[in-house]
Amino acid sequence: MSNDTPSNDTPSNATPARSLDRRDALRLLGTAGVLAAAAPLARAQTAPAAAPATLNGNGFYRQRIGNMTVTVVSDGTSPLAALLPTWGANPDRQAEFAATLAEYNVAAQNTVNHFNPVLIELDGKRILIDTGRGGTGGQLVGNLRRAGIEPETINTVFITHGHGDHIGGLTTAGKPTFANAQHIMGEAEFNFWVTQATPNDAVKNNLIALKDQFKLIQPGQEIVPGLTTVATPGHTLNHLSVLAQSGGQGIMILGDAGGHFLLSLKYRGAYVGFDTNGDQAAQTRQQIFDRIVSGNLWVTGYHFPFHAIGHLRRLGEGSYEFEPTVWNWS
Ligand SMILES: [Zn+2]
Repeated sequence: MSNDTPSNDTPSNATPARSLDRRDALRLLGTAGVLAAAAPLARAQTAPAAAPATLNGNGFYRQRIGNMTVTVVSDGTSPLAALLPTWGANPDRQAEFAATLAEYNVAAQNTVNHFNPVLIELDGKRILIDTGRGGTGGQLVGNLRRAGIEPETINTVFITHGHGDHIGGLTTAGKPTFANAQHIMGEAEFNFWVTQATPNDAVKNNLIALKDQFKLIQPGQEIVPGLTTVATPGHTLNHLSVLAQSGGQGIMILGDAGGHFLLSLKYRGAYVGFDTNGDQAAQTRQQIFDRIVSGNLWVTGYHFPFHAIGHLRRLGEGSYEFEPTVWNWS
């Protein structure tokens, strides 16, 4: 998704609706009400263990694949008033898409966007793919910590593309969030964003701010041993997905080459409102989905609903379905 489109997309500094509600409520209560309301709030902050977890799976989901541990780490969600036309944008197919959402009982209104960065642990190294929205809305770092991972222990950060919901977490209060990490991005994608005449805030505060810390690589090049970039143009023109392989198994980390977990998979030619080139994005999806099924690869998509990891199944020519893996608590 993109940050520079006024729409249902989430700005990198968006605040979750729940916090807004609480703040607004406190403002409306006035001083006395604030004092009364602040007491339970303070207790909740000092005794988090007593509060029920707000996210299923406590914000992260681990899966062993070959010799890798692949952890989907949620950056949280943002409110989405209407799924269409953003996530199935073809103007002539709106009725068909709406019927499919109804058939699969996927909420078309008052739903949420998910954001799912991925951490891979392999050969003693930690590689993070995409960094969430950052700001007050981003929950990546909090959920990494729930998984027992401190941000300074990340060795490598790879960025699939330059949209704000993927780069927003690169910095925190003007400093690199992952202070000890090697930052890596595709050269063409990086250059496209940092050479904009009027770059947006997410680009300024993250890509441009960390300009000298990025190592720039090419499609098909290795990020670290075991992880290779895959050219998946269309969502952005130089978008890169990641193929991670170990011990005879592999996972395709799609980034936004996945699109919508139901519509982009089921319908050849379907595209997303944030795709820079919808036709190219749809063609790329056909190729990468076919490769995933043919290679029996695991798959994860950045905006698929958490836990966002599983396999693809071919429904028919050019039509696929996402099969989330059966939940494993360990
Ligand atoms: Zn996105």
